[in-house]
Amino acid sequence: MRLTIVGCSPAWPNPGGAQSGYLVEGRGRLLLDCGPGVLARLREREAWPQMDAIAITHFHLDHWGDIVPWVWGSMFRFDGDRPRPQLWLPPKGRALLERFESTLGSPKMFEHTFELHEYEERTTFSAAGLDVTAIRVPHYRIETYGFRVSDGSTTIAYSGDSGPSEHLVDLARDADLFLCEATLERGVLDGEPRGHLSVEEAIEAFEASGAKRLLVTHRPDELPLDDGLERAYDGLELEV
Ligand SMILES: [Zn+2]
Repeated sequence: MRLTIVGCSPAWPNPGGAQSGYLVEGRGRLLLDCGPGVLARLREREAWPQMDAIAITHFHLDHWGDIVPWVWGSMFRFDGDRPRPQLWLPPKGRALLERFESTLGSPKMFEHTFELHEYEERTTFSAAGLDVTAIRVPHYRIETYGFRVSDGSTTIAYSGDSGPSEHLVDLARDADLFLCEATLERGVLDGEPRGHLSVEEAIEAFEASGAKRLLVTHRPDELPLDDGLERAYDGLELEV
């Protein structure tokens, strides 16, 4: 599989950065999260992104905000009239989108643009020809998932946003690549209940999981990383 870091900023943008968006290409094209700045980045590669499926970890804006302009572009036919990409949402996500439509948008705007699906926790679904499993992780009080994505031989695990948890370790178990957030300078700076990781906590989860490679993401530019740790940056492409 090929992984492209489209955007990797935390909940606020790094200078010039896009927020969460990770493109996985195997038999098809799957976008994990679609935060602000991601659609613009994808449009630098092709007039309108040809995506088979998008999967959203949770409804904090930095992980799904660009779904909204995606809808407007599609309504005005800038998507070239392609088949609708699948949009995989957390449980009860469709009802939440309907509330958004009725207060800030227009009826059926999301359904017009995307084939809507809700995933279920730990029930593998097929998206863009890949097997995806959503595992719930702790992130303050909002229902949040991380994803395991597999093409049958290789597995990428993506933390989404998560505090320390054995579920996070489970998520990354024996993965070929663990794309893991490390938003915090120190765990003590987090809220209660926990919602993010320090880099030490990300390393701890990585080591407990048996995953082969750690790629640190969702990290403010201001926070350094020790030598020897791999850090995601917008535009990074790797074969996994
Ligand atoms: Zn986030």
